[in-house]
Amino acid sequence: MSTHASTTADSPAYELAPYKSLSNETLHARIQAVREQMGPELLILGHHYQQDEVIALSDLRGDSYQLSQLAAANTECRAIVFCGVHFMAETADILANRAEALAARDGRRVDVILPDLAAGCSMADMAEIDQVEAAWEELGEVIDTAQVTPVTYINSAASLKAFCGRHGGIVCTSSNAAAVLKWAFARRERVLFFPDQHLGRNTSLAMGIPIEQMPVWDPLADELGGNDEAALTDSKVILWKGHCSVHQMFTAAHVEQFRERHPGIKILVHPECPREVNDLADVSGSTGKIIETVKASPPGTQWAIGTELHLVNRLKAEHPEQEIHFLSPVVCMCATMYRIDLAHLCWSLENLAVGRPVNLIQVDPEIAQWSLVTLERMLEVK
Ligand code: SF4
Repeated sequence: MSTHASTTADSPAYELAPYKSLSNETLHARIQAVREQMGPELLILGHHYQQDEVIALSDLRGDSYQLSQLAAANTECRAIVFCGVHFMAETADILANRAEALAARDGRRVDVILPDLAAGCSMADMAEIDQVEAAWEELGEVIDTAQVTPVTYINSAASLKAFCGRHGGIVCTSSNAAAVLKWAFARRERVLFFPDQHLGRNTSLAMGIPIEQMPVWDPLADELGGNDEAALTDSKVILWKGHCSVHQMFTAAHVEQFRERHPGIKILVHPECPREVNDLADVSGSTGKIIETVKASPPGTQWAIGTELHLVNRLKAEHPEQEIHFLSPVVCMCATMYRIDLAHLCWSLENLAVGRPVNLIQVDPEIAQWSLVTLERMLEVK
């Protein structure tokens, strides 16, 4: 485990159970009271995929890396409550409690809290550090790993970011993946990309890398990730067999149905979607790009958007001048992020306010240090 969660208490923390029976109205009022009591010492971060009632009580709204950076730059806060998923809180801890930030605050750490520790990311969980280390060793039997750059998507555990740090690798986001791959190919011959095969594949295809040179490494396969030796020696990008359970749900048939029923509609998707969806889309881009694309479009534009449901519904509400549809007929929402509800938020805040923080996320110092190396490499990529 790269992180641990703890309750620091002279007396026991408030129990969660009673909060679950409170109405949203009561929870909202009590959360608001803690916000007023703590003032600028408290920073609540709301990821774009969060439910509306959580977003309404967040100080900042954004995507994972953007939120962590904004939080790390905040000099007043003493506690960050991250309404997102586990890897996001880890990144916030790494950035907000890095050596220079600690020095600027006379050594005082910022508490980083994840209101529900069960809020993980199914994609991040598809690449465990032991599996990645085993894959690296096995790859070393058939190719020269000194010529492989490990690239991890930011949606990954801190231990994977640290692995990349130790092996000359780098982190990417969905907005800079192409620039990061270019950076990697300027240094070494090949890339091992994890945990999201779709982002790796869609980005590499757009850069002109042939699909034949992108074998998929299945960590559950018996040998060589399910590949023959030639597939690996001929590879440019080795894709980890991982995916986002939300974006994986969109299909080419959804795109075709919308095009048939709504002539002229534009398809806007996230690059975590499968290749066949990404290839058919008019625009593919990060959460930030999706939001900006809608914002910049003229009234009357028709969109079918393939990304997390809460974000699409919010875009719909914020842009009534456009016609916005959700690309799938089935609900695709981030179930783990949805675990952060007002009950968990109120419970964690009231414990924090009385000096008994629960669900603290603290990345192991060595892992944090190597993770920072990869994050800083990413920041140098233009
Ligand atoms: S939307 Fe997908 S990648 Fe994002 S946190 Fe949820 S499961 Fe993970």
